[in-house]
Amino acid sequence: MDAHDIRNAYLDFLERNGHALITRAPLVPRGDTSTLFNGSGMQALLPYLLGEEHPEGRRLTDSQPCVRAQDIEDVGDNRHTTFFEMLGNWSLGDYFKETQIRQFFTFLVDIVGLDPKRISVTCFIGDPANGIPRDDEAASIWASVFAERGVSNGIAEIGSQADGDARGVRPGERIFFYDGGENWWSRGGSLEGTPIGDPCGPDSEVFYDFGAEFQDPSYGLAHPASDGGRFMEIGNQVFMQYRRREDGSFEELARRNVDFGGGLERIAAASIDSDDVFRISLLWPIVERLQELTGKRYEDETAAMRIIADHLRGATFLAVDGVRPSNKEQGYVMRRLLRRAIRLALSLDLHENFFGEIVPVIAGLYADDYPEVAAARDEVVAVLVKEEQSFRRTLGAGLQMVQGYAGRVMTGHDVFRLSDTNGFPKELTIEEAGRLGIEVASDWEAEFAAALAEQRARSRGATHLGAAGLPGGDTA
Ligand code: ATP
Ligand code: MG
Ligand code: MG
Ligand code: MG
Repeated sequence: MDAHDIRNAYLDFLERNGHALITRAPLVPRGDTSTLFNGSGMQALLPYLLGEEHPEGRRLTDSQPCVRAQDIEDVGDNRHTTFFEMLGNWSLGDYFKETQIRQFFTFLVDIVGLDPKRISVTCFIGDPANGIPRDDEAASIWASVFAERGVSNGIAEIGSQADGDARGVRPGERIFFYDGGENWWSRGGSLEGTPIGDPCGPDSEVFYDFGAEFQDPSYGLAHPASDGGRFMEIGNQVFMQYRRREDGSFEELARRNVDFGGGLERIAAASIDSDDVFRISLLWPIVERLQELTGKRYEDETAAMRIIADHLRGATFLAVDGVRPSNKEQGYVMRRLLRRAIRLALSLDLHENFFGEIVPVIAGLYADDYPEVAAARDEVVAVLVKEEQSFRRTLGAGLQMVQGYAGRVMTGHDVFRLSDTNGFPKELTIEEAGRLGIEVASDWEAEFAAALAEQRARSRGATHLGAAGLPGGDTA
């Protein structure tokens, strides 16, 4: 099954199980200025998870395109992309743990065809101080589910991520208990941070195990919540069963919800037993085109090609959803993705315009499944190509300005001014200075950071960039 088949099979399976297929939300949230982008399937459904009646019923499903600008620094690794699709299903006061766990497991094993021996799961260890018991209910459902397939179902108490890094996984273990740092959901982001009056609850995450040889030992021993590479999170089910009272304590809710979100790209990667999501059907054709255009191999230029493929895919989808490059908010994130793609292309010695070669490939990957992509295709290509041309002019002017420093020492202020006034990325300034033998002051980075902080302080409140989690200082 490729990613397209997996998406269809999931939605079809959930519909057969009584879920209404709802229309996906746009990437830019409607009537919600708290975040720049929809970063999960749940976000647009929050009012219903908090109690409002949904017009389409109590069982819902969709595949939600998401943008997580806050993951931008992770892009280049084997599993994070700024744009991805989240397969989702929800029970609004309908079924609970047993149905959810069996449903997702059946999908993974019987429909996608994953080997149950390669699946591991996590559950909430409990919080005695707050009177919240261990989630033995979820763990024992998982234990039965695994036993029915004749694979080991050992349970392990891990606790924190750090405890796991030291303890590792022992033979036969498949169900791992972690604390609230890993397995608690609330809008506040943690158990202690659960807002008063809010529903909240334990979650249970599902991981695909690539095998011990994938663990990078510098992260400690392998276990599901390790970042070390052996385990990849493919899905997350939240069981909203508590509510925080006025006095800060937790009570059981009468009406309990399930929120499930699974990464389409990651499930597709697991299904081809690839630890690299860029090898799946929705990303590999973009990489292939990049290899043709640059004459370089993905094996040699992995991170750069991943970043270019991801950023152009994200920007394409943003354009489909009506975002246009600009200097603020969503448009700024889009512009940043595009400029970064150009900068990385330069590092691959690709100096000509190339968006016109890549964007149609991306649009083609989605045109059948997302009619809005097909409809907007020509306009989207035009928007991105135009942005590329205009940035190339900036680049040309910036390169000349760097040349103007020949025989002088460039300071952090100079680098900042080029970036701030001329839109010329600091990385390019430094690279170009190096190429031309122009000296750059050794403290340029600190001076650059200070100038940036000063400028941010002046313009604070003018944009919502903080909400996008964008790391500072990088203008492209
Ligand atoms: P991770 O720990 O790997 O960063 P997460 O816990 O932040 O993932 P969730 O918020 O639980 O992710 O989102 C639900 C699912 O969406 C994850 O289980 C994963 O399969 C997928 N997912 C999350 N972030 C990304 C991303 N940046 N790129 C691709 N898939 C993602
Ligand atoms: Mg994450
Ligand atoms: Mg996670
Ligand atoms: Mg998660």
